[in-house]
Amino acid sequence: LTKTVKRRRRIPKRPPFEIGGASVSAGERTIVELPFGALSTHSPMALPVQVVHGRRDGPTLFVSAAIHGDEVNGVEIIRRLLSVPSLRNLRGTLLAVPIVNLHGFIAHERYLPDRRDLNRSFPGSESGSLASRLAHLFMNEVVARCSHGIDLHTGAYHRFNLPQVRAHLDDAETETLARRFGAPVVLASRLRDGSLRQAAMERGIKLLLYEAGEALRFDETAIRAGLRGIINVMHAIDMLPGRAARVRTEPVVVGSSRWTRAPASGLLRITARIGHYFSAGDVLGMVSDPFGETEREVTVQEDGILIGRTNLPVVNQGDALFHIAKIADQDAAEEAVEQFREEVEKIELLDEPPIV
Ligand SMILES: [Zn+2]
Repeated sequence: LTKTVKRRRRIPKRPPFEIGGASVSAGERTIVELPFGALSTHSPMALPVQVVHGRRDGPTLFVSAAIHGDEVNGVEIIRRLLSVPSLRNLRGTLLAVPIVNLHGFIAHERYLPDRRDLNRSFPGSESGSLASRLAHLFMNEVVARCSHGIDLHTGAYHRFNLPQVRAHLDDAETETLARRFGAPVVLASRLRDGSLRQAAMERGIKLLLYEAGEALRFDETAIRAGLRGIINVMHAIDMLPGRAARVRTEPVVVGSSRWTRAPASGLLRITARIGHYFSAGDVLGMVSDPFGETEREVTVQEDGILIGRTNLPVVNQGDALFHIAKIADQDAAEEAVEQFREEVEKIELLDEPPIV
């Protein structure tokens, strides 16, 4: 009988992570400022990145927010993520970029001052427009160095999104991670030209896009679910030690979605709740003129779950009002949302009072 003797091996120290002229040693964390020209006022501009370089080898993950400058939930999700105690035992490297669209964030705007959408400007170029240059910097210094990424979004201005993950589900690992995130809906949405998702996919980086809440507003449920989702994914790719908390939410995976538009201009009274299931013909709200002389129902075109809605009652004909994810299985859809709501209430990740 032979006895296996476990000998303690010394783990060779990981090489430091080099970024933007800085060198972050294994086991350390640093905020690195990536220079990005200057403001028109003369003040220098920089893209701030917090690098958490684990003692042990593992994946390199970026978590980014505010690519659309008015989408602030993700910024708060990253603030909370960076105070999670288990990051001390991180395997691999985390690159946290809470604000990518620097100018948009300051101005509370979705776009850059050149009116371009940063999320249509990837992979960008060094000599292109302002948006293109920022995309290029973020792409080269951060995204291209990573094996995985999570990009955090919210609904647009006056639009609220049910927590959902969007990803390229043809890739098996990406699909597994999208499901593990713990959101009630996973949407296999098509890739758009110039999006970060497309640029990342072309480089073989596994990317999840998380959408939850509304622009310029904090939403505690969206924030908690986002933080927990990132931690779930980090466990799934073995960046965090120990076992992840069990996720009960079995998301519904959706292949297509559709916006229902305003049939007339006027004032919208919404009677449908986010996350509920609706069948074709169901009424989601009414649009009337200010005198109440005309009234039009807004009805569902296809069976599905309400994953996004406007919060602005003043509408013009053609405005996108309700976003329905097409799904036939009503029971599965209702179960996923119910389970998610129950679970998100119980999340205790940090010892902080909730935002109300
Ligand atoms: Zn966005």
